[in-house]
Amino acid sequence: MIKSKLPATGTSIFAVMSKMANESNALNLSQGFPDFNCSDQLIDLVHSFQRKGLNQYAPMPGVPALLEQISIKTKKLYGKYYDPQKEIVVTSGATEALYTAISVVINKGDEAIIFEPAYDLYAPAVTASGGIPVFIKPRSDYSIDWEEVERRINANVKLIIINSPHNPTGKLVTRDDILTLENLAKRFSFILISDEVYEHITFDSRPHLSISSSELLSERSFVISSFGKTFHTTGWKVGYCAAPEVMMNEFKKLHQFVVFAVNTPVQHAYAEYLKNEEHYLSLNKFYQDKRDIFLNEIGGSNFGFVPSEGTYFQLLDYSGISDLDDMSFCEYITRKKGIAAIPLSPFYSGEYKERIIRICFAKNDDVLVKAGSILKTL
Ligand code: PMP
Ligand code: GLN
Repeated sequence: MIKSKLPATGTSIFAVMSKMANESNALNLSQGFPDFNCSDQLIDLVHSFQRKGLNQYAPMPGVPALLEQISIKTKKLYGKYYDPQKEIVVTSGATEALYTAISVVINKGDEAIIFEPAYDLYAPAVTASGGIPVFIKPRSDYSIDWEEVERRINANVKLIIINSPHNPTGKLVTRDDILTLENLAKRFSFILISDEVYEHITFDSRPHLSISSSELLSERSFVISSFGKTFHTTGWKVGYCAAPEVMMNEFKKLHQFVVFAVNTPVQHAYAEYLKNEEHYLSLNKFYQDKRDIFLNEIGGSNFGFVPSEGTYFQLLDYSGISDLDDMSFCEYITRKKGIAAIPLSPFYSGEYKERIIRICFAKNDDVLVKAGSILKTL
């Protein structure tokens, strides 16, 4: 028999809730993905590269034209130059990048600081490599509790994982957070993994603060992003990882044996599409409008909320509506009210007693209005 590496892990909540939404014919505001299509231009580009015969294996680290465009974009937006040949790898979504980076860093017995609520893959990936997740609970406004980090950090902590814009809370890291991390980096030798998949989705003129823009931190960081979020193509599963050459050399050793290389025509298409910065710079407004349509619709409802600062997620507090635990409440609104959402408990390691759910507003406006009008009746 196989000895499970993850005995306590079940099926991802995103798969569970999307299945339940489909079975119940509910509006699916659970798993994070757009219900609208990506641009025709991007699809045409993929077709054109397929017709040109670019249908065989891409180079292991990625198509050079795409690596070049990622390097140009990162330099332009965050002031950091990554050598496209040595310091960037195109991955099978941010998922592969995260799993690979975590596997590269963590050896048996190593500790990894993970901030809760945490995206579901971080802790299992640490555990599967024999590491020990060290969970840090947030302050009440979901900002990072640095006093707790100070109490828990030690020489065994080989990894800290941060995520901004943050799934599921929609919080952004602040300049103070980055300063605090820089000070910690002067005293401890951890590696940082920065999950920045929602880098182009921030609201109310807040900037995305990339870890790559910190000279001190970028020297020890794997910075990870995803084209799925940026170009409405979550199903194409293409992302990337950037880090200093010595770190990427280790990353490539695993990447080559996990996927070897990523979809060739799609990489060529993204490389071409990235040349027009309008495509990604307009995303903030696009999603801010959607957030506001949804929040407008549920204003005056019995849900409590603080507007999301970034990502395409919004937390809703239902303590004024029901005493059900969050999983039961999500099941109830999916099966009985026709709206699927994500409970927050799967983002926590221990017992979770709050009454909060996450909805995804990457949906057509009419769906957001319809969802809001149903939620208002609760
Ligand atoms: N990190 C976070 C915080 C996410 O929300 C997601 C999204 N699904 C991922 C990583 C994975 O990205 P991808 O779909 O590109 O694998
Ligand atoms: N990241 C997406 C979410 O938070 C889901 C991705 C997945 O299903 N693994 O909903």
